[in-house]
Amino acid sequence: MRWTNSPSRFKKLSRLTAFHYFSSFIRHHTHSIIVKDFTLETYRLYLQAIRRNFDHILRFDEFLNMESGSRPDSFCIIRHDVDRKPANALKMALMERDLEIRSTYYFRTKPRVFRPEFIKTIQELGHEIGYHYECLSDEKGNRQMAMINFEQNLSRLREIATVNSISMHGRPLSKYDNRDMWKFENAREKLKNDFGINGEIYLHIDYSEIAYIGDTGRNWDSAKSNKRDFVNSKINLNIKDGKALLDLLQNNPPSKLVFQIHPERWTDNKMEFEIQKLRDSAVNIVKSFR
Ligand SMILES: [Zn+2]
Repeated sequence: MRWTNSPSRFKKLSRLTAFHYFSSFIRHHTHSIIVKDFTLETYRLYLQAIRRNFDHILRFDEFLNMESGSRPDSFCIIRHDVDRKPANALKMALMERDLEIRSTYYFRTKPRVFRPEFIKTIQELGHEIGYHYECLSDEKGNRQMAMINFEQNLSRLREIATVNSISMHGRPLSKYDNRDMWKFENAREKLKNDFGINGEIYLHIDYSEIAYIGDTGRNWDSAKSNKRDFVNSKINLNIKDGKALLDLLQNNPPSKLVFQIHPERWTDNKMEFEIQKLRDSAVNIVKSFR
């Protein structure tokens, strides 16, 4: 009797198992179709969610110009560090303009990044241009030289764009932390009086109540492989992947958010995508040995 029942039970079980595998396959692959992270297509989804959920999308110069008491209770600042590939930055700037979003682009002044035509156009699209400085690592820790380097590069950038705020370039493989060039009393006053800069965005912003989400190290967990690109925020979000990030931005966004994106990491071109992915994992491996 047991043998007569078995084949049908077995069939039923294998149908259930097949269904289970089929549905989990569909679930898994639908997610990867919808959220293939680090593509421009997905970046647009993040932007749309931000657009829908934040009444105030600020640039850093606007934020720094507001007295702390007059800042909105809820806001999002989108920050780009243009470490490489300024053409990718322009693509993002156009997409943001398309969605009526204005953000901040911090440009390095290295030859392949310092491309006046891109910088100028991005500013004309309504975005802020800032200086992504790396003077202390360029000058191997010599602060005096770093200050001269800073002044020269800032004025080169100002020949093209208005610059009111700065952010350090992390240079994960360098032993120098570029922020250290401002480690002296009244540094903010010096920045303001001598250079007309309203703030260094790592040093002169209190992030304790601001959520900080960034793509450094090709993951959204700021504690994971970020040697320098992190801030002291009390808001711990633990975002495990792009799908979780989209879900958060769409359904449960933090009230105050800085969203940090490196344009070189984002592309719809398959070859460029794979190369960048390899590059990111190589850098992460080197970082993990330091
Ligand atoms: Zn950088």
